[in-house]
Amino acid sequence: MTNPERKSWSQDYSEWFHKVIAEVPIYDTRYPVKGTGVWMPFGYKIRREVLRIIRDELEKTGHEEVLFPLLIPDYLLSKESEHIRNFEDEVYWVTHGGKTPLEVKLALRPTSETAMYPMFKLWINAYSDLPLRIFQIVNVFRYETKATRPMIRVREVSTFKEAHTAHATREEAEEQERIGVEVYSKIFERLKIPFLRTIRPDWDKFPGAERSVAFDTVMPDGRVLQIGTVHFLGQGFARAFDIKYMKSDGNYEYVWQTCYGISERAIAALISVHGDDHGLVLPSEVAPVQVVVIPIVYKGREEEVLKRCKEVSEILERSGLRVSVDDRKDITPGNKYYTWEMKGTPVRIEIGPRDIDSNTAVLVRRDTLKKTPVNMEMLVEEVRKLLDHIDEELAKRSKEWMSSKVRGAETIDQAKDELDTRGGIVELNWCGKTNCGEELEKTIDARILGVPFDEHDIENPPSGAKCAGCGGAANKKIRVARSY
Ligand code: ZN
Repeated sequence: MTNPERKSWSQDYSEWFHKVIAEVPIYDTRYPVKGTGVWMPFGYKIRREVLRIIRDELEKTGHEEVLFPLLIPDYLLSKESEHIRNFEDEVYWVTHGGKTPLEVKLALRPTSETAMYPMFKLWINAYSDLPLRIFQIVNVFRYETKATRPMIRVREVSTFKEAHTAHATREEAEEQERIGVEVYSKIFERLKIPFLRTIRPDWDKFPGAERSVAFDTVMPDGRVLQIGTVHFLGQGFARAFDIKYMKSDGNYEYVWQTCYGISERAIAALISVHGDDHGLVLPSEVAPVQVVVIPIVYKGREEEVLKRCKEVSEILERSGLRVSVDDRKDITPGNKYYTWEMKGTPVRIEIGPRDIDSNTAVLVRRDTLKKTPVNMEMLVEEVRKLLDHIDEELAKRSKEWMSSKVRGAETIDQAKDELDTRGGIVELNWCGKTNCGEELEKTIDARILGVPFDEHDIENPPSGAKCAGCGGAANKKIRVARSY
C-alpha cells in the first residue's frame, strides 16, 4: 500500500483540523462561551503526555513547579507600564463578590509576571536566594477580539506553561535565556515539531521585555504558528516590583529576569504537522495508545483469537508500552482500523486464526499503513523497532516539509507572490529600521517574524546588498510570513 494521502490535510487544513479534533475526539468546541473548549478524554491524555515532556525538560534543568492564584489585584497588574498598556484591552475583570462591589478590582491572570514578582520581592533578599527558577502550568484569560480558533486563538488558554527566573547578573540571565531556548528546542524535538527560532522585532516583543525569541512552525495551509517564546526581561520588572538582593559589598542590586511560555498551541501544532487524510498521526512518546491489537475473528475460533490478542497485549504492556485490545463486538475490523487510524495510534497489530496457526502477527504502521508479518518470538523487539523507526520518519518528514516552506526572495513583489501562492516563510535583506519594517509589513500584508536567533542559520547579506523594503543598505536577513 502507498503512503496515505495528505490532500484534505493540506488543501483544506482548517476543515481537516476541525474534523479531527471533533471525531477523535480531542476538543469539543460547543461549550457556550466563545473562545473556550472542552478537553475530551483522548485529547486530555495527549495533553498529559505533552505536559509530561515539558515538566521533564524543565525539571532536568533546575526549574521547580509552583501554583499561583488566578486573581491579580488591579494595582499590581498596572505596575509595569508597558506591560499593562499591551494587556489592558484583553483583561477580564472580577468586580463583584456576590452583589457587593469589590474595593479592589481583580483581574483573571492574562499571564503571571505581576502575580509572581511581588512574591519574588519577598523571597529574594540575599545573593544565596539566586538564581530562582520556577514554572507553573495553569489557565490564563485574554479577551481576544480577533476571530477565535480552537486551541490556537482562544479566550481561555487552558494549558499555559510559564517559567520565570531571577538572576544576580545580566550575564547569568542571558545564559538562562539561552538555556530556556535549548529546553524548548528539546521539547519540540521530542514532539517532532519542526521550528525556526527568531528574535522578534522591537515592536512585536513581549510587553516589558528587552528581547523575545520565538519558536515558529508552519502549518499545513502555509501559515505560521508561534508555538513558544523565551523573553529576556532585563531589570524592567525588577525595578517596577522592587526585587533586589544584597551584594557582597553590602549594596543592593536589582535582579535580572527571564520568562518563557508554551501553550496548547504546541498541541495544535503536534496534531497539525503530522496528520494525513486518515486523521491524527502521533509520535509514540505522546500517543495515549501506542499499540492497538485488533482481533480478526472467524466463526468457531473467536475465543482462541481473543485469548491470543490478550496475551499479546499483556506481553507488550509488561515491556512498558501503552496497549489496547479493541474487542468491541459487532464492529467490523475495517471500522476498527478507521477508529484507530483517526486516533493516530502508531502501530496496529492484527491477529486472526491464520496468524495463530503460523505463530505470527501482522504489524501495520500508522504513518505509511504498510503491513509486515512478524514471528511471535520477535514481537516485542519488532514493535519497539518499528515505533522508533516511525518516530524518526515523522521527525524527518515534518522537517523536510518545513524546509520546503522557507525560501529567500529579492524584492517585496517576489515575497508577496511567494506568500500568496505558497505561504510559508520568506527571507529578505533588511536595513533593520523600525519604520521600514512596519511599512514592509503593510505592503506585503504579512508579519515580520524577526531576525534569525541562530546566526549560523542564515548568511547575512553581502556588503552592498540593498534592503528589500526601502532600498537602503541591508545589514541583516529578516523573516516574513502570514501568521495565525
Ligand atoms: Zn529598509
